[in-house]
Amino acid sequence: MKVLSVTSEIYPLIKTGGLADVAGALPLALAGLGIETRTIIPGYPAIMKAVDGHAEKVHTFAELFGERATLYAAKCEGLDLLVLDIPALFGRFGNPYNSATGEGYSDNWRRFGALSKAAAEVAAGVLPGWEPDLVHCHDWQAAMTPVYMRFSDVPEKPSILTIHNIAFQGTFGPDIFPWLGLPAHAMAVDGVEYFGNVGFLKGGLQTAWAVTTVSPTYAREIQTPQYGMGLEGLIAARAHTVHGIVNGIDTDVWNPTTDQSLASRYTPSRLRLREPNRQVLSERFGLDDDTSPIFCVVSRLTWQKGMDLLAEAIGPLVAMGGKLAVLGTGDHHLEEAFRNAVRLYPGRVGTIIGYDETLSHIQQAGADAIVIPSRFEPCGLTQLYGLRYGCVPVVARTGGLADTIIDANPAALDVKVATGIQFSPVETWSLVHALRRAINLYNDKKAWMHMQKQGMKSDVSWKSSAKLYADLYSSLFV
Ligand code: ADP
Repeated sequence: MKVLSVTSEIYPLIKTGGLADVAGALPLALAGLGIETRTIIPGYPAIMKAVDGHAEKVHTFAELFGERATLYAAKCEGLDLLVLDIPALFGRFGNPYNSATGEGYSDNWRRFGALSKAAAEVAAGVLPGWEPDLVHCHDWQAAMTPVYMRFSDVPEKPSILTIHNIAFQGTFGPDIFPWLGLPAHAMAVDGVEYFGNVGFLKGGLQTAWAVTTVSPTYAREIQTPQYGMGLEGLIAARAHTVHGIVNGIDTDVWNPTTDQSLASRYTPSRLRLREPNRQVLSERFGLDDDTSPIFCVVSRLTWQKGMDLLAEAIGPLVAMGGKLAVLGTGDHHLEEAFRNAVRLYPGRVGTIIGYDETLSHIQQAGADAIVIPSRFEPCGLTQLYGLRYGCVPVVARTGGLADTIIDANPAALDVKVATGIQFSPVETWSLVHALRRAINLYNDKKAWMHMQKQGMKSDVSWKSSAKLYADLYSSLFV
């Protein structure tokens, strides 16, 4: 089967979050199941540089959203890419969506409208010698692809839209509609119209043959007003086509037995070899060199991630004897709150504001636990890295966190299946209670080590999830 994947970011070439990890890993996992994936992606400077010298021009669009566009084919990092080169739209350095001030580019509707339109043309067969059987689109940036396929003269290809985070919907004013190149009747409830505006994600949810999201719990949650962010009615109406498939991780990149970022590599049976990583971590974050538990954070510092709750829990955490190592970037007031905590609790709290992939590996290998108090979490990856590295996840009971961590309640501890700690409701007092449970368990060395080992045994690879995607593809391709 041939699949066209449509995405606005892909690991390891350009990444702002979990979407890139999925878009980069899934094609490789599906290849083992006989599914050939080509990925269409905007030609940002980072992508153009990566394919420079070995890209082949495969198609020219005389006009896409007022611009001339070129499609290049290139193999890169094991991926089979179709790069959409439109310098006026994509030739911008830095974050793929936002300007240096952090604001979304005002022409994002043109940029990702063009990506979706080009993808629909590829689906319709404009490339010589290659036509997909199915189109898999990711998030609002690719969500107009099934809309263009629906409102075209060419027979429609089966399509899947995966929601990685419903908070990002790509909603624009009605004045852009005439520029989208769609027939007038597409500005309606069974097209892109969304409360009088143009909704890219809404249009995709309406027209894709199947909708997936990245965990079964999040698939249920987004059918409710609390999590659906306005789209719950539409998703609930399509419930029979909505599936939740948990993300896997790249188990070669995230492998504590071979990880070259670490000071010391280790296996479940030699957990004491984590110690040198703990020391590096303590030095980097300026933490006291003692045996009290280190909790870590690798995260965007935002409200969604519950980082304000954690900032409020620092006092109690320190009073209970815990230490905290925070790596992240995000909202300025949260960055400031974690910097402040370092001043208040020297040696007990360390904060590094920034994005540092290598350091994130050291944290998972050196800290005792990772704290993820998200208010909502479609899937989450850092708890999966935590499982793999024996860094026990302390998580909010929501979305993919609820689906991937087995809470250390007495029954689970009794039968030795616990892999972490869950808490609910997602409020500060409840988080503090979870941190206390974690510290009590940490002090029971045998129980803690068992939980680490149990986590390290969990299957966090793409194997079973890729099979679920393959089955879904087959069910649509008749
Ligand atoms: P989201 O996509 O909502 O940000 P995920 O947990 O799904 O959350 O994915 C976040 C990814 O980004 C993970 O791979 C995580 O390790 C990485 N990450 C987040 N912040 C940082 C940081 N400051 N430094 C290094 N890696 C980070």
